Order: sequence, then structure tokens, then C-alpha cells
Amino acid sequence: MSSQEQLLEGLNGPQRDAVTHSGVPLLIVAGAGSGKTRVLTHRIAHLMAERGVRPGEILAITFTNKAAAEMRERIQALLGVRAANSMWTMTFHSACVRILRREASRLGYPSSFTIYDSSDAARLMQLVCKEMDLDPKRFPPKSFSAQVSNLKNELVDYDTFAGQAQSEQEKKLAEAYQLYQRRLHEAGAMDFDDLIMLTVNLFQMFPDVAEYYRRRFRHVMVDEYQDTNHAQYAFIRELVGAAEDSDTSVVPPAELCVVGDADQSIYAFRGATIRNILEFERDFPKARTILLEQNYRSTQTILSAANAVIDRNEGRPAKSLWSEQGEGPAITGYVADNEHDEAAFVAGEIDKLTDDGTLTPSQVAVFYRTNAQSRVFEDVFIRTGLPYKIVGGVRFYERKEIRDVLAYLRVLANPEDTVSLRRILNVPKRGIGARAEEAVELFAARERISFARALRRVDEVPGMATRSVKAVRNFNALMDELAETVPGGTPAEIVEAVLGKTGYLSELAESKDLQDESRVENLEEFVDVAREFEHTFAALLEEEPPDEDQDGDAAAGAVDPGAPTLVDFLERISLVADTDQIPDADDEGGVVTLMTLHAAKGLEFPAVFLTGMEDGIFPHTRTLGDKTQLEEERRLAYVGLTRAQRLLYVSRAAVRSAWGTPTYNPASRFLDEVPSSLVDWRRAESTLGAPPSRSIGGGRGGFGGGGFGSTFGGGKGPRSRGGAKEAPTLSVGDLVNHDSFGMGRVELVEGAGDKTKARIDFGADIGEKDFLVKYAPIEKL
Ligand code: ATP
Ligand code: MG
Repeated sequence: MSSQEQLLEGLNGPQRDAVTHSGVPLLIVAGAGSGKTRVLTHRIAHLMAERGVRPGEILAITFTNKAAAEMRERIQALLGVRAANSMWTMTFHSACVRILRREASRLGYPSSFTIYDSSDAARLMQLVCKEMDLDPKRFPPKSFSAQVSNLKNELVDYDTFAGQAQSEQEKKLAEAYQLYQRRLHEAGAMDFDDLIMLTVNLFQMFPDVAEYYRRRFRHVMVDEYQDTNHAQYAFIRELVGAAEDSDTSVVPPAELCVVGDADQSIYAFRGATIRNILEFERDFPKARTILLEQNYRSTQTILSAANAVIDRNEGRPAKSLWSEQGEGPAITGYVADNEHDEAAFVAGEIDKLTDDGTLTPSQVAVFYRTNAQSRVFEDVFIRTGLPYKIVGGVRFYERKEIRDVLAYLRVLANPEDTVSLRRILNVPKRGIGARAEEAVELFAARERISFARALRRVDEVPGMATRSVKAVRNFNALMDELAETVPGGTPAEIVEAVLGKTGYLSELAESKDLQDESRVENLEEFVDVAREFEHTFAALLEEEPPDEDQDGDAAAGAVDPGAPTLVDFLERISLVADTDQIPDADDEGGVVTLMTLHAAKGLEFPAVFLTGMEDGIFPHTRTLGDKTQLEEERRLAYVGLTRAQRLLYVSRAAVRSAWGTPTYNPASRFLDEVPSSLVDWRRAESTLGAPPSRSIGGGRGGFGGGGFGSTFGGGKGPRSRGGAKEAPTLSVGDLVNHDSFGMGRVELVEGAGDKTKARIDFGADIGEKDFLVKYAPIEKL
């Protein structure tokens, strides 16, 4: 069989057409499980094997890091590690960060710019509103944050917005937007939305940059296209270069292939709209559309349930998705008395399925609508000894102690990062009170210098008590001392230095507060995270291989002192999507995955538990009165249902405590929309009998009470997979292959044992990099 045949084997007619299509842009719109992602993967393989495309010429955008990893895995299976690693398969955010790191200086940012996550951004907006003296009741910072985010997703800058602003609300918003942006810029920081918007700006303002990337990426692919927002769309359009630009542009447009399903659009609230599909047809009028109709994932029973639910949404074109998998077992339904009972049912079922060898834990997923619902499952799973993993590292990273350490690290990476700096100024307590902080702030404003600089000139700050001046001086000295650990230190070493030298750890260790004890554990865990990062750095990096045909110009601003650096580590943490922590498929038996419905997009599992199927939970209570929002919730239900391959469970709790008070929720309307012939109700009614007209008091048995007592190991990641590898012995002149950077020559070796460092030259495009040999993914050739 020729390699062409091999690649096309296992694809149906329209899938083959999509894989082999060349030329005009291609749009694949098709229902869940119809092989859209598979088509993208095979298309990439086909491009390389049959059309001589180099991996470096391909950009494949996925929605989550998890999806990117899966795509790399599939490509690796088809074409090997090198090809998979040298290709850009990543999320919009990661791709933009990669570009911005190179080009940030053009926009006046340091290439080591900080990435503010949503809570940093919210904090900055609060500071801005305070600075503007806005009444938080009339002008809530939270709402300003959300609105600025929307504007950025629409690529509306503050000047444009100020020009249109009419009401006082809008005018203040415009002002806040501008000040917020200025503060970010001064801090050398970008928020998530900036990553996309600034990349688009970069392309538009610097045609040479756009051209560089257009030359580079000759094939652009986007998965989950229905959820791209306007800014992301513009990014793609700029990168590809629309056909009408081709007279003016020296580079002909790249080949573009996007796949999506309007029925799975679940981020409209974030600015993603079906509009992007319409825009696509407008901007690329010659585009070809391919439909896929066969579902390869689920049984007909599961598909019928999903189809019946999504059919309730109005104004969608009828789709005829069918499956050859046969009827399969009926859907299992269960009505629990309360959320603890529901969790116990789920745990019991999983136990049965895994005990009798039907499934391994990794083949099972439990979905819920909101993150907060996970705690009860954690509780029961821990008690019954079911191995599980919560997808959603956010919660771990949102803990105070973790955020504190992160703030230290961020200031070390970028001393101008005001939000982080102010966070740690008096943490742990060192006698720099709010008054002193304010005095420094005023001084900074008067002198028109950053807060960081003002701190350095503390002796000149008027109105400071001698004690505070001394405290600030000590703080400056401490930060200088910590800064010394950065150039040679690994992320874990730097984290340890921060914990030790600041006295953070000893303060917690001396405390008698139980919570502080778990804080210490979390910090321990964080050191593990850093260490694990060092080990897995190779797999996380997808840097391009050396490209001889590119001039070094665009790389000019890049500062890359070696790997893995503190900046790399921080970047990784800022970008971890919820779905990152799904255990490797090769874990023995693996663990059960718990995740929100939003995080489940694009994934599939042999067995799925859809829990909390109650009106007010799912659909979410805030969507009940709004038809558009309800339709979005319904699409989310469609996503959830279509993740299941063979076994599907739907459950609800008759009583669920909200904020410690038990409340009664009626069955989800989405449950009613599933044809009853498809569901086998294990228990169709709660043992509590008919719903009371008011909330039921008290809990039940050993479960009751709800409450927010203990936290059960949330956020613990799968630790230390795979043993330490043998480090190669290197000497100057050796040729090596690096998983991400490709071939290089050893220029320098220093140190000994675990601390051996090597400098390796990867050629003109990447240049020289330093590595700790033990951790670097290199092999001697
Ligand atoms: P979603 O909309 O949920 O993202 P999708 O359209 O991307 O789904 P895939 O994940 O690509 O669908 O495919 C669903 C499943 O069907 C996968 O396990 C895939 O390997 C399998 N599959 C797709 N096409 C075929 C085919 N022609 N033959 C056999 N299996 C297939
Ligand atoms: Mg997919």
C-alpha cells in the first residue's frame, strides 16, 4: 500500500476530499464526532508526506492545550516525534505569546512581558477605578473589566471607543480603558485579551512582521472554529492574507482550513459568535465547504438523545448525523436525594464498571456545569478510594499562598509589574503599611515614574516614617538578593529561594492555624510543580526548527537566555488551560476525570456521567429567563451528551445545598427533552417523595450539612510521571538533537553532575541556548 493510501485509509469520502483538498480556503462544518479533528490531523500528515510541506510551515490552532497535545500525539504516531515537535500546534493564546515574545519591543514591551490572568487584570482595574475616584456602586470595576475585555475581543481600542462614547457610563469606561491600558504597558504586562489584540495590531502596524509570518506559515488550520471571536478571526485573516490582498502582497495567501460546528458554540458570552462563519464566507468568497454526516464516536442511542435536545434550538439548519455503532445500551438515569447521594451513586457505578473490567478509570468522565460542584465528588471519591483527577488547575493557582509566590516570581521576572509588586510589598508582614504604600504611589505619580522606581527612591518620598523607609530599604535589598538567584537558577530553585529568604514559609510553619498547615502543603506542591515543569519542559516547548531561509531580522528583539527559565515557567502557568491535567493515556488504568462541561469540548470518553441535571444548575440559573442564553446552555448540553461513546449516565439531585442552605431544584428541561424511550431510570424519583413547596431544612445522615469544611486534595496534579532519564555526557563540538530546537552543536560545557550545563548553538534562527544537561531533552548524535 502506498503511503498516500495509508494516510487515507480509515477516512470516508468527504473526509478524504477534505484531507487532499488544495488551493482555496476550506470550511468544514459538521456535527459532533464526525471526524473534524481527525481530518485536520490527517490533513497535516498528508501535507507533509505527499506535498512536501515542512512541519515549520504549519500552524494548527486548537482550543485547549489538551487538544493541542492530542493533535501532536496523533501526528507523532503518524510521522514521529521530530515532526510533531517542530510544528506549531497550539492555542490562539500560545501562538500569540510566541509571536509577541519575539516582537514585543516593536510595541514598546519587554520581550519578557508578564501575562496577567483574569484575577490580576481584575485587580488592576480596581486600582484604576480607585485612582479615578469612581464610585464602585455606579461604576463597578468588575463590569468595567468585562466590558474592556469585550471591546478588546472586538478589536475596539480606547480612542475609537472614546470617540463613540455618549453616556457618562461610556465616557468613564473609555477613560478607565485608557488608564488601564497605560498601567498595563507601564508594568510591561498584557492581559489575556491583549495577547490576541496586540498581535493583530502588530501585524497591521508592521507589514514586515506580517509578511515574515505569512512567508513562514503556508498552511493554517483552526479547530473548534465556531468559538473563535472577532479578534481571533482577525488574527487568522492577517496571518493568511486574504485573496484580495494578493495583488499588493508579495506573499500569496496561505492555505486555510477551518473546522467547526455551530451547534457546539459555547462561548458566545466571551465574544465568540457564529458571525465568524459568516465572516469567513464574506472574506473568502471562493471558499469550499465540505459537510460530514457520519458520526464515528457514539452509539445511535446517544446520538438520538443529543439530536433531540439540540433540535429544540431555533433557526438551525437540520442536520442528519448518523452512526454505524448500533443502538448500544440505553442511557441510565438516576434521581438522587441530594448531591452527596448523587456523588455516591456515581462512585458506586464507576466502581462496578472498573471492578468487572468493563472499563479502566481513565475511560470515565464526570461532567458538571460549574466548578463548585466538584467538591462533593472529590469527597466521595477519596473516601471510596477511586483515583480521580479534577481538570481545572485554576483552583490550585488561585489559592492565596500560590498567588503570593507567583507574585514574587513575576516581580523577579519583570520588576515593573506593579500589581504583583504591590501584592507582596507587605507579604509576609514587614512593616510597610497602607500609608507608606500610598505615599510611594503619590510620589510615583508626581515624579511620573513607575511604582517600582519610586520604591527604589524611597529616601526621597515625603511623609514616610523612618521605620517605613527602613522597611522598604530592607524589601529592596531582599528583592536584589532574590534577583541574584534568577540568572543561574532553575524555577524550582528560585521558588525555594523565595519561600526561604522572604520568611514566608517560616511564618506559616510557626502558625497554629490549621489552614496554614495546608498552605505549607500547597507550597510544597508548588515546588513540585516547578520541578515537574523542568522535567517536562521539552514536551511543552514546540519551538520551530532552524529555518535557513529566514533572515534574522524578526528575531532581533528576542531574549532567550536558555531553558527552562523563570519566564518560561511563568508563561506556562499563565497559560495552563483547565484541560491540561488530564492524565496521560499510558498511565496504568489511569484515573477518572472530573471536569466542567466547558472543558470537555472536543474530548471523548467511553463512559460519561452528566450530573446536576437540574433547572437552575444546568441550565444555569442566570440563563433561565433569556432565550439566547438558554440556547447556549442547550448547545452545552449537546456538547456534553456527544462526548460519550457508549455508556451515558444522566443524574440529578432533588435537593442540593446552595451556600449552605438546602434548595429544591426541578429536573433540567434538557432531561425532559431526551426521548423517554432512550432512558432506563435506575431511580426515577427521590426517596424524599414529592417536592415540598419550600426549602427542606437539615441534611441527611452522614452526608448532610453541606458546608465548606475541608478541602480534599483539589488541584493535586498527577505528579512525577516517568523516571529521571540518563543525562548524556557532552563535550565541546558534539552534535546533539534537541526535541524542540532540532540539531545543534555543543559550544561550552561547565559544571559537573546534576549541575552540568551546556551551551548549544542551533544555527542562525534560534541561536545559542544554555541547558541543564540533566533536564534538557537532548540526545547526542
Ligand atoms: P467534536 O465535534 O466533538 O470535536 P470531531 O468532529 O472533531 O468531534 P473527531 O474527534 O475527529 O470528531 O472524531 C470522533 C471519533 O471518531 C474519533 O475517535 C475518531 O478517531 C473517530 N473517527 C473519525 N472518522 C473516522 C473514520 N472515518 N473511521 C473510523 N473512525 C473515525
Ligand atoms: Mg473535534
